[in-house]
Amino acid sequence: MTKAKDRSIDKASQQMLKRAEAEDKQLAWDRLEAMEPQCGFGTLGICCKVCSMGPCRIDPFGDGPQEGVCGANKDTIAARNLLRHIAAGAAAHSDHGRDVAHTLLIAAEGKTHHYGIIDEKKLHDIARIYDIKTEGRSKEDIAKDLAHAALAEFGNQEGELKMIARAPESRKKVWRKLGVMPRGIDREIVESMHRVNMGVDADYKNVINHGIRCSLGDGWGGSMIATDLQDIMLGSPKPVRAKVNLGVLKEDQVNIIVHGHEPTLSEMAVKAAKDPELLALAQKYGAKGINIAGMCCTANEILMRHGVPVAGDFLQQELAIVTGAVELMMVDVQCIMPALSSLATCFHTKLVTTSYKAKYPGVEHIQFNEEEAYEIACKIIRMGVENFKKRKKERVDIPKYEMDLVAGFTAEYVFHMLGGKYRATYRPLNDAIISGRVRGVAGVVGCNNPKIKHDWAHIEMVKELIKHDVLVLQTGCSAIACAKAGLMTPGDALKLTGPGLREVCEAVGIPPVLHLGSCVDNSRILIAASEVLKEGGLGGDLCDLPAAGAAPEWMSEKAITIGFYVIASGIFTVFGGDMPVKGSENVTRYITEELDSIIGGKFAFEADPIKAAHMMIDHINKKRAALKLNPMMYEPAKKEAKEEATAGAN
Ligand code: SF4
Ligand code: SF4
Repeated sequence: MTKAKDRSIDKASQQMLKRAEAEDKQLAWDRLEAMEPQCGFGTLGICCKVCSMGPCRIDPFGDGPQEGVCGANKDTIAARNLLRHIAAGAAAHSDHGRDVAHTLLIAAEGKTHHYGIIDEKKLHDIARIYDIKTEGRSKEDIAKDLAHAALAEFGNQEGELKMIARAPESRKKVWRKLGVMPRGIDREIVESMHRVNMGVDADYKNVINHGIRCSLGDGWGGSMIATDLQDIMLGSPKPVRAKVNLGVLKEDQVNIIVHGHEPTLSEMAVKAAKDPELLALAQKYGAKGINIAGMCCTANEILMRHGVPVAGDFLQQELAIVTGAVELMMVDVQCIMPALSSLATCFHTKLVTTSYKAKYPGVEHIQFNEEEAYEIACKIIRMGVENFKKRKKERVDIPKYEMDLVAGFTAEYVFHMLGGKYRATYRPLNDAIISGRVRGVAGVVGCNNPKIKHDWAHIEMVKELIKHDVLVLQTGCSAIACAKAGLMTPGDALKLTGPGLREVCEAVGIPPVLHLGSCVDNSRILIAASEVLKEGGLGGDLCDLPAAGAAPEWMSEKAITIGFYVIASGIFTVFGGDMPVKGSENVTRYITEELDSIIGGKFAFEADPIKAAHMMIDHINKKRAALKLNPMMYEPAKKEAKEEATAGAN
């Protein structure tokens, strides 16, 4: 019996899973099975190998060793491991931000003509945060100063990040009181790596508090720099219609997939695919055109700005190759499975790496640089076109599943969308929440994980939230999963939406689930939450807002970092699987209970997406009650929510 239905709820993915099974191709799900049972010590976070007196493992049942050779106990070990994850996640997002700042600098200096300054308003807005004079200056001069100021945030040694000034004063007071205001993005990451060395920080609370500081340096620093500088340079997204799922691959065209995270090269690939010479070459080989499709967060970046179709989310990267229709997959950094290189050799797909930070043995590498960005993109696209000749028609099997979506929402655009062109304001959203039409707002983000049926947890959770009048903001692979299920078009999604939220969405003409971009664009959610707070009527701090977060199918260390800066920003957050801390009751209690009274946010771990959704709804209801907001306007939905929550608890 095929395992496809147990592995994914997405029909296109099931079709490719069946094909892979029939052809005995090993995919992530098979490798997971081969790995089982996975190590209990690692799962619980109580193994340590940071020095050569180890590796040390704490016996979770209490019979064997309770301390490593150095005397570190399970609390120290679990907290240190967690801090390592946070630092790694922050490093990944923030290095992306650094690269974007570098690109802005060389664009402003005129060293590359492939990138410019497209959103001048945003340039001025962000320059003001850095106290950069804008009046009477050229956009290039302002951009140069801004790029230098942004780069300085990475190496800043003392004081506070400048970007974090955008957070509400009340929140900054909480961070200052706890001593977790980030000083410099790199500084907090480096200090994390210092603290987790053998014989440094052994107090689990102290270790985790630094994790909070490091994560804030990402969310309100590195990721925010990435988002804002990309908007300045590549243009701020606006709502755009597009298509999603493996069905966007074309039988009669050269298919090129751009996969990874950064938009700089993929932007050029989108342009290069329209190059007349390359199109003529494609036609010469019998193809009707060149089809660029995205994968993971690179997909989200070019989707948001250009409406480029999305081939899939994290767990579809191998499945795209299994279609036999992909001429070339171009990758940059993050979330790229090393397994792609051997799988690609089973088909005609050419895999090309483009960042010196992410190479794979045996895979052709073409180094990207901003100065020759377009030429490099053309070279890679040409390779894809040439490879069309090697496509075996009889091996092509493209699932006929694709879905419409609307993407391209930003914190700034919401102003106009809700208030109209001449009344840019969040007021209508706040009023809808206060009056009980909209219960609250949820951010549902993050990855896929073969341990959880592909896409299932994202879709079930989001459906449950909108049914109960919770407006959902999404990024990353979670957004792609829900888009495939049709939740990002106003039409069908509104049929699943509670009556109050539906009224608001119909009035404004938006879906109940808004796509805000890639993982670094979670910073858009932070800014949107701050704007909602500033608009008034929903409390004095971010932790007062009727809002919650979730990462139902998380897998990446980056998700842990995001989770930490979200709870540190006062938002209750549910993870779909446990973080590797359960071996320490103290660490688990600290992050799932005690932090709430310290920073106004905490984690919960719940694998059942419906139960997790009700944890979020209950939290939102509690915040509504504390703010003394009107009862929900449409009682049945409220009653039903309670009944389902009770049923879920039984
Ligand atoms: S730091 Fe301590 S617990 Fe970790 S490996 Fe070394 S001796 Fe073992
Ligand atoms: S959501 Fe997770 S899997 Fe998807 S691109 Fe981001 S980090 Fe990678």
